[in-house]
Amino acid sequence: NGDVSSRIDYVFKVVLIGDSAVGKSQILSRFARNEFSLDSKATIGVEFQTRTLVIEHKSVKAQIWDTAGQERYRAVTSAYYRGAVGAMLVYDITRRQSFDHIPRWLEELRSHADKNIAIMLVGNKTDLEKQRAISTDDAKEFAEKEGLFFLETSALNASNVESAFFTVLTEIFNVVN
Ligand code: GDP
Ligand code: MG
Repeated sequence: NGDVSSRIDYVFKVVLIGDSAVGKSQILSRFARNEFSLDSKATIGVEFQTRTLVIEHKSVKAQIWDTAGQERYRAVTSAYYRGAVGAMLVYDITRRQSFDHIPRWLEELRSHADKNIAIMLVGNKTDLEKQRAISTDDAKEFAEKEGLFFLETSALNASNVESAFFTVLTEIFNVVN
């Protein structure tokens, strides 16, 4: 409608990918509703959540898609990636395997998504520093090599969750403008 207060200038689809239990759904819940749950059930039903924010005086609706528990290798379908202009590639800093699978997720993402997609590598659960298994430097080095943005987050204490989304959304904004 023409109401200035509800005008949306852009809608950006961003997908969350990465192994099961790395915290994708809680990162989304933190970003979209500022909520967190320690006993989150495997994602069911809801395909995406939105949050509208302002970037350079424009109203941007971020439509963030969450896998419906389809994180098994190759179970995420191409429909999930269709139209995505951004991606959050998430691993758990306390679980090496989730980081070792990142190249596989990246390959899948690159084979399905637009070549200009903005990608953020996200190391989640920094509140569990004592159980850290992946050093910040190793992840940073991988991100630089692959041309990805990189941040470490905690959905639990909200650290860097906003920054991660804002960085990706601003990059997308700059690409389309
Ligand atoms: P998903 O399968 O990738 O969507 O993972 P979930 O969002 O369902 O999270 C899996 C488990 O990790 C749940 O028990 C969450 O509460 C927990 N979790 C998610 N993010 C964090 C975090 O930043 N810190 C801690 N300590 N636990 C987290
Ligand atoms: Mg989930």
